[in-house]
Amino acid sequence: MRIAIASVGQETCSFTPVRTTLATFRQYGLYEGDEILQRMRETGPIGGFLAAVQAEAIELVPLPIIRGWGSANGMLTAETLAFFEDKIVTGLQQALPLDGFFFDLHGAAAAENEPDVEGYLLAAARRVIGPTVPMVASLDHHANITQLMIDMLDGLVGHRTQPHDPFDTGKLAGHLLFSLVRKDVTPTMAWRKIPMLAHQEQFLTSRGPMKEWFDCARAMETDPAVLAVSLFPMQPWLDVPEGGWATVVVTNNDQPLAEKLAAELAQMLWDMRERFWVYESIPVEEAVRKAEKAGQGLIILSDTGDSVFGGASGDSTCILKELLRQQISSPTLMTMVDAEVVDLAIRAGIGSMITAPLGGKLASEFNQPVTVTAKVAAIGGGRIDVTIVGVESFDMGRAVVLDVGPIKIVVSEREGVGGNHPIVYRHFGIEPAQAKIAVLKTASNFQYYTDLTSEIIRVDSPGPTMSHLEKFAWQHVPRPIYPLDELASWQA
Ligand SMILES: [Zn+2]
Repeated sequence: MRIAIASVGQETCSFTPVRTTLATFRQYGLYEGDEILQRMRETGPIGGFLAAVQAEAIELVPLPIIRGWGSANGMLTAETLAFFEDKIVTGLQQALPLDGFFFDLHGAAAAENEPDVEGYLLAAARRVIGPTVPMVASLDHHANITQLMIDMLDGLVGHRTQPHDPFDTGKLAGHLLFSLVRKDVTPTMAWRKIPMLAHQEQFLTSRGPMKEWFDCARAMETDPAVLAVSLFPMQPWLDVPEGGWATVVVTNNDQPLAEKLAAELAQMLWDMRERFWVYESIPVEEAVRKAEKAGQGLIILSDTGDSVFGGASGDSTCILKELLRQQISSPTLMTMVDAEVVDLAIRAGIGSMITAPLGGKLASEFNQPVTVTAKVAAIGGGRIDVTIVGVESFDMGRAVVLDVGPIKIVVSEREGVGGNHPIVYRHFGIEPAQAKIAVLKTASNFQYYTDLTSEIIRVDSPGPTMSHLEKFAWQHVPRPIYPLDELASWQA
């Protein structure tokens, strides 16, 4: 089987002024040709796809084209999109003839010149491979599904869980693709768009309304006529003309069944939409006080407005300011993105004291710098090998540890993964288990601290990924849309 393999992933936050370039993609791995298979053999959707190859003993002629992960960030520049389009088009041209194309995408990327990056790339690919070669996508379930994506694809599979399962998604998409190539099945696909947005605080699939909705999709897949049921609670910060949640059902040669199930799941969501709008985050003043007073174990303060996995810049000063104002005494860990301060600290050297305005420089609409006097405790940074949310390494640039009283701040040139994995601290010889408070730059991905954590406190902090979506100046999503507008009646 001659299968082309490509992966282009980025989650766009429309509300940050930061732009995504090829340099951003290089932070999380931009690979071509055989290096893709070497690097991603055990990680992410491509690793899962290769596991499906093994499981079915497929005689594969792999034709790896491009793999780029841009994490969550601002819009792609036009040149960045053109780069990927060119790689996909020329790569596929050279790979012909093909039996199939495995295309891993995030699904919620927008560029300065194109609000539907995935539809655009899929259409470019389809023009090269023609109408009959099966093309299947694996997608993040925070994708924004568009008509063009559906029109271009023969099948798709979204993540089953939050926190995500990129490896399993790739594996399922691989199995689906092989069954299409062998003509074991005839895919029929239906989808529904739901005019709805929701904040990030009810996004975990392990509990609440999201669990009920996803469980229902899994139950539908027990029908052998159903090939894949994917639910797409679109990530909350994508302001594009086709924005909104979606359901997609792929069946075996049964369009009416696909339509029925896609509509059922859409209606189920609509009927419980208010439950996705329950907030859990609390004001920063109360959150810091609670963390300082808590008993044993590590308390996580989730900086919801500055989630680097949602597209924020990782330089919010909201929580730092409050930690300093309350003069906390607990050993505390946090991260900050500030290239100027990294440079200043490295020039000053380990053991030196520096005074400088820190953070609050990238998303200045939401945050301002805080002047700190700190001791330069360590210097490090660079590329770190670790498997985290489908990525096998990341590069936070040069980094330093600043001690500000009991607060240890890892300040880096680029956002990397914030402090969302303990390796960011262990890299400097700091053990998170010995801290009392850790500020994480995520509202959902606490899984790497599970063994250490005694409590998670979500902080209602401002920023490009804040939970109060009504505070953003939405310009492009289709209106009316819940909950920004009144929608008296809507039927799937
Ligand atoms: Zn996601």
